[in-house]
Amino acid sequence: MHVDKHQPLKNLLGELDRRGPRYTSYPPAPMFTYDFGPDALVNALQESNRPQARPLSIYAHVPFCHQLCYYCGCTKIILSNNARNQGKIDAYLHTLYGEAELFARYLDPRREVQQIHLGGGTPNSFNPEQLADFLSDLRACFRVAPGAEVGIEVDPRCIELQDLDRYRLAGFNRISIGVQDFDPLVQKAINREQSKKHIADLISEARFVGFGGINVDLIYGLPRQSMKTFGHTLDELVKMRPDRVAVYSYAHLPQQFRAQRLIRLEELPDPTLKLDLFDLAVHKLTDAGYRYIGMDHFALPEDELARSLNSGHLQRNFQGYSTRGGADMIGLGMSAISSIGKVYAQNAKTLPIYSRRIENGEFATVRGLHLTEEEGIRRDLIHQLMCSGKIDMDAFGQAHGIQFEQYFERDLGRLRPYLKKGLIRNQDHVLEVTESGRYLLRPLAMAFDPYVNQPENGATYSRVI
Ligand code: SF4
Repeated sequence: MHVDKHQPLKNLLGELDRRGPRYTSYPPAPMFTYDFGPDALVNALQESNRPQARPLSIYAHVPFCHQLCYYCGCTKIILSNNARNQGKIDAYLHTLYGEAELFARYLDPRREVQQIHLGGGTPNSFNPEQLADFLSDLRACFRVAPGAEVGIEVDPRCIELQDLDRYRLAGFNRISIGVQDFDPLVQKAINREQSKKHIADLISEARFVGFGGINVDLIYGLPRQSMKTFGHTLDELVKMRPDRVAVYSYAHLPQQFRAQRLIRLEELPDPTLKLDLFDLAVHKLTDAGYRYIGMDHFALPEDELARSLNSGHLQRNFQGYSTRGGADMIGLGMSAISSIGKVYAQNAKTLPIYSRRIENGEFATVRGLHLTEEEGIRRDLIHQLMCSGKIDMDAFGQAHGIQFEQYFERDLGRLRPYLKKGLIRNQDHVLEVTESGRYLLRPLAMAFDPYVNQPENGATYSRVI
């Protein structure tokens, strides 16, 4: 374990060995309730059109995959490659378009879409021509800004080099490649075998055809990972120089995700090794010139994400960190979540219910939340903590009409041990996350989350590390 550059993470094992939300939303999705339906979403959309409406961001969920990865915790449908299944995939694209039209019906057409992201599942289950049609359908429904960020997540096992140029021509300008690990034994244990050479070729081709912000996902804590194998994966990856690297912690929740029952418990790294693997990633990536952004994300200093962190403009949404913020998020597809003003609305998680609802001309919302005033204040605070790492208590209190120290008295009490450990400092009424504290944003945010601190809250979250 390296301890030279950062505060020894190992000394914080107590703080890290707990579960908590990733705070892509506050309150997190397990707090959504089922007494929330399409009407509440329609009201929120109409209200969001008031003068000075926020810009829009679109997320479309593509649930299809060709093979099951054993670590998977996503909402997906595994489909083998045959004509009948191709029909299902085509029909889904049509339904997504129907849903986009439904949203457009309630939104002021002058509102600008600044960001479009296709996630999965496997968005490249659709061929580039289908996706080009989908993007032009979205352009027909919404006013897409000329410089909008248009991103796609790809499974490298189902993409050929020549496809990248076609995706680029279709209008995508950001790409995220799911790698997880290069080691053949680890790949076998998670049922996701893919060649390192193909990934290297994809990254250089993506750069050649003009993709910006090329992102690669890795996962630590997978079965059979060791310091040696994961170190090798990191060494190989930094040679490929993607602009961004996300290093996610594997969350083993087999009761919740059936696929994970196929992972052998005895092959998983223990918590100490898992922490060492994360520490290794931090050192290898920062030594190679990457900047730690927060919550498992790293970026090269010239990348937009690192520049946004420097300028204090970093944002967070359901996809993690982002450079475009303050937008209302339209979630298309089964299980997708929309975030409109103070409302979250989640679609049905099964294909028949989702499709039937949209085909009947109604939203597929099955649960959601209308934030209370207090939840809105806490959401702003957690967002600020996760993005800028700085809270001016007086300014925050003034902006929200509260006396900060009084309002957050219990929360500040929960923060005290972290102040003592130097993860956050309080100087002149400004709370500021320290360099080592940036690795522990989740527990710091949890101090301000009354739900995770309620023993009766039965939600299951992943481990912090
Ligand atoms: S990890 Fe990704 S590609 Fe693998 S099954 Fe899950 S959603 Fe599909």
